[in-house]
Amino acid sequence: MRIVSFYYYSYKLKENTDNTLPINSEWDIIIIGGGATGLGTALDAVTRGLKTLLVEQSDFAKGTSSRSTKLVHGGVRYLAQGDIGLVKRALKERGLLQLNANHLVNKESFIIPCYNWFSVAKYLTGLTLYDWLAGKFSFGKSKFFSKKETLKLMPGIKSKGLKGSVRYYDGKFDDARLAINIAQTAIEQGAKLCNYTKVTSLIKNDKGDIIGIEVIDTLSGKQAKAKAKVVINATGVFVDDILQMNNPQSKKLVRPSQGVHIVLDKAFLKTDSALMIPKTSDGRVLFAVPWHEHLLVGTTDTPLDEHDLEPRALKEEVDFILNTAGTYFERAPLETDILSVFSGLRPLAAPTNGNKNSTKEISRDHKLIVSAKGLITITGGKWTTYRNMAEETIDLAITHAHLKATACKTHQLKIHGCSDFKENNHLDIYGSDREAIEKLATELPQLNQKLHPDLPDLEIQVLWAARYEMAKTVEDILSRRLRILFIDALVAKEMAPKVAAILADELQQDENWAHDQVSAFNDLADGYLYLPHIPNKK
Ligand SMILES: Cc1cc2nc3c(=O)[nH]c(=O)nc-3n(C[C@H](O)[C@H](O)[C@H](O)COP(=O)(O)OP(=O)(O)OC[C@H]3O[C@@H](n4cnc5c(N)ncnc54)[C@H](O)[C@@H]3O)c2cc1C
Repeated sequence: MRIVSFYYYSYKLKENTDNTLPINSEWDIIIIGGGATGLGTALDAVTRGLKTLLVEQSDFAKGTSSRSTKLVHGGVRYLAQGDIGLVKRALKERGLLQLNANHLVNKESFIIPCYNWFSVAKYLTGLTLYDWLAGKFSFGKSKFFSKKETLKLMPGIKSKGLKGSVRYYDGKFDDARLAINIAQTAIEQGAKLCNYTKVTSLIKNDKGDIIGIEVIDTLSGKQAKAKAKVVINATGVFVDDILQMNNPQSKKLVRPSQGVHIVLDKAFLKTDSALMIPKTSDGRVLFAVPWHEHLLVGTTDTPLDEHDLEPRALKEEVDFILNTAGTYFERAPLETDILSVFSGLRPLAAPTNGNKNSTKEISRDHKLIVSAKGLITITGGKWTTYRNMAEETIDLAITHAHLKATACKTHQLKIHGCSDFKENNHLDIYGSDREAIEKLATELPQLNQKLHPDLPDLEIQVLWAARYEMAKTVEDILSRRLRILFIDALVAKEMAPKVAAILADELQQDENWAHDQVSAFNDLADGYLYLPHIPNKK
């Protein structure tokens, strides 16, 4: 039943699929968590000559790292809060990321519509400072536009009371694709990365120091142990679960804050620029960003007491986004216009002042601590600053465990796929892999077909994801390799049977497996459709 075996692409990429953990293995560094933070840390460690293992309980970027607003940014909002150091560092990282992963990071113009002259002055001054802080990594100069020019730039925008707008530049990216490419880069550098491998406990020596992990392969149920000189806890909103494996009494480091996005047809904003509303009715920021030929609108900020790998949007959050967008778009979006709705949990550092309902008081910068001898925890921060966070984490690990390693090498390290070549179509996300995918498509013409009439994605991309991008399930492909679930949940459901058949063939699974995959995916995708049963906050 297997589709023609095809090995023309590099042997290293073929190896990507072998991600089972040996029963007992020894490493310099073990990283728990395969989101932006963990993957960046694995790449930093291995490029310094450290024997590196990363384990992720689900798929890479299954957590917050696939659910961001897709901005590579310094954080205009943090500038308003006076956090100049954080903004400056993030702007430098924005520049480095654009150089090292330019197949996935694009410059984007953002329009801030202004309905009074005070806003014009405030945003123009602030954004001029933002450009200046970027220094040689500037993405372009901010500029004022009159009302007439603004309406030309952004035809869908509400014109009543409009005085003009300020345009500035930032970066836009595909978060889950970048995560996969960072994982591939780390593997190519010699690290071992295992998805679907969950840490169930920490191994301690007689003195109580952390010396390793016990894991379970969540697909096969196989168990294994691994030892290391340092274990790094990079599990985002889950850091406290790992800390409690070490000490059940440990104080909470993180408080999750939920951010929700909805995805609409691109026609709601008739422009290539993104819209930024710095202060909505309740003081939050709202973005409307063109993304994969659709419009991503969000986000909210709701403090939660619990964390989940599949957090669900609350009705009041979706209503807030629809209502706010409705006051800026010429045509207000309705519930029935939502193609996909997704939530992500921000691992904010827990407040210490006892006010647990305000997320604005919680620092968005990262927290890096030695939690116990042999256990380092890194959490918070932003996708944009993942490289810098990783560098600091490995610097600390080297000092803490007296490891022999070189200086950080990731400033100029190209991420897998990095390429200038873009044709403004759906294959651009593959960067330098694109040629190989196109060649594969000509070798296997039966897979050179669209997966669905409404979207350009091809069947060959499914095979590619399974063979070279460590995808193991229909969800991995439709959520994080092709992003369809985040773009249009109904279309994703319609694609699922075809994806399952191609995947089953490639992974040598039977029809029952494919059937189970489709039904599991359908259950998941229902949570991304906007359905009337979305609950209110309790
Ligand atoms: C709504 C929202 C919008 C955002 N927008 C932006 C943006 O536009 N730009 C930006 O720069 N940043 C943005 N951020 C921030 C950014 O997305 C996060 O800072 C970043 O993704 C966090 O990555 P992480 O690796 O720390 O966490 P995660 O991505 O959550 O990764 C942690 C991983 O650990 C794994 N894990 C947990 N427990 C275990 C275990 N026992 N064993 C093995 N693995 C385990 C989880 O499965 C998970 O995959 C946004 C955040 C949110 C919530």
